[in-house]
Amino acid sequence: MTLMIENRTGPWCLLLASLSFLATTLAGQQVPSCSAVLDVSVISMDREQVLSDQTVLIRGDRIAEVAPSRRTNVPEDCRVIDGHNRYLIPGLVDSHVHLPLTARVDQFLVLQMLLANGITTGINMEGSPEILNLRNQIRAGQVSGPTIYTTGIFIQQPAFMTAAQVRREVIAEKAAGYDFIKVHGELTKEAYDALFETAQTEHIRVVGHVPSNLGIDAALGRQSLIVHAEEFLYSYFQFHRNLPSDPAEINRLVRDVSKRTRQSGTWVSPTLSVFQQIIFQVADLESLLRRPEMQYLPRSLTTGAAVGAGNFGWYPPDNPYVRRWPPERIPYLRAQYSIMRQLVAGLRDAGVPLLAGTDPFVPCVIPGFSMKDELQQLYEAGLTPYEVLQAGTSNAARFLGSSEYVGTIAKGKIADLVLLNANPLQNVNNIFRQEGVLLRGRWFSQDELQKNLDVAGQRSGN
Ligand SMILES: [Zn+2]
Repeated sequence: MTLMIENRTGPWCLLLASLSFLATTLAGQQVPSCSAVLDVSVISMDREQVLSDQTVLIRGDRIAEVAPSRRTNVPEDCRVIDGHNRYLIPGLVDSHVHLPLTARVDQFLVLQMLLANGITTGINMEGSPEILNLRNQIRAGQVSGPTIYTTGIFIQQPAFMTAAQVRREVIAEKAAGYDFIKVHGELTKEAYDALFETAQTEHIRVVGHVPSNLGIDAALGRQSLIVHAEEFLYSYFQFHRNLPSDPAEINRLVRDVSKRTRQSGTWVSPTLSVFQQIIFQVADLESLLRRPEMQYLPRSLTTGAAVGAGNFGWYPPDNPYVRRWPPERIPYLRAQYSIMRQLVAGLRDAGVPLLAGTDPFVPCVIPGFSMKDELQQLYEAGLTPYEVLQAGTSNAARFLGSSEYVGTIAKGKIADLVLLNANPLQNVNNIFRQEGVLLRGRWFSQDELQKNLDVAGQRSGN
């Protein structure tokens, strides 16, 4: 397996010529047959524990052994990674990303932004043939990058008005190889019913927004995943009524919907930080646009066009939130956000499994870097650091049905790991004090990740 692109000849050569710079500029070291992280504290994520003084042996792309250092002999051919005073966690999963729909250079930049923040798996929430192709190439080891799962296109009106249209689309997306069906907006009851009937016979799961015309009960138990706690506002808390303001009433509603969500088996990815960013930009767009991470995004990726949302410009005068809402609207947005946070705590109390998703390319949500905001918001909503980490690792693996391979640290799992220099169970922000990332057994130091990010940014137009 080569690092970026397989060395092939034939009809691929034109494509490969255009991509060869990725192979040459972003290739690091070859994957050694063996790596060993020595004397490290392992946060295995199968339970809340820190195993200190461990040696983690990695052979090829798999964890070969996790054992106390004093009992482990490191083979001579192993690359040694110093784990002393450091912590090893499973690679993070951003359960709501958006890759640019077509341009490979832009997709590649986003992959580097994810990886530089410890994200080794992303669930892409709007697909395209080019993204499917990228997913497949990563899966085959032809392209280096986080593992990608992808939904198809947005299923919503007016593109999908009838049950027959929805049925055709679900069958076509399954045949094309998409991992999930994505509901994005309103649908008629007939079309929404047809979506689940067809998805069931096609054996593909439905994720996404709740059609706000139908309400939460139409979605619970049928959608595998609801993205955005915000969806509960429109389909439940504000469904045919005003936003509740009485604390006792809010509390009662949170308990009711949390219990019913738990019973339904539907999962939730709250994406709290995206809503918080919206409030921030209504209040002070300039300071968000001045954040240091903005340097990685070329201006061309801040218009919304690359992700198929041309009305989602980040800068004035195109920023939709600044256009839509005057600062006087902020108290109302904050009241909504407060209910979303209470809901997240209520869902946790009821035992609903939560996922960490960030929704990048919504204006001012920066791919990869947005994970820090989301994990912090989940913590501030009331999750413990361990529960926050579960949302970003083991829960996501369970949701994807890949717990056997990823999401926890144990012998036999794929070596998608992040090395930290502080304990993430003491402070969720320590999850981003990263020394480096192992991606399918290949070590990237933080310096190397930074270099790759810079190169990918230049290629994409920075
Ligand atoms: Zn999204």
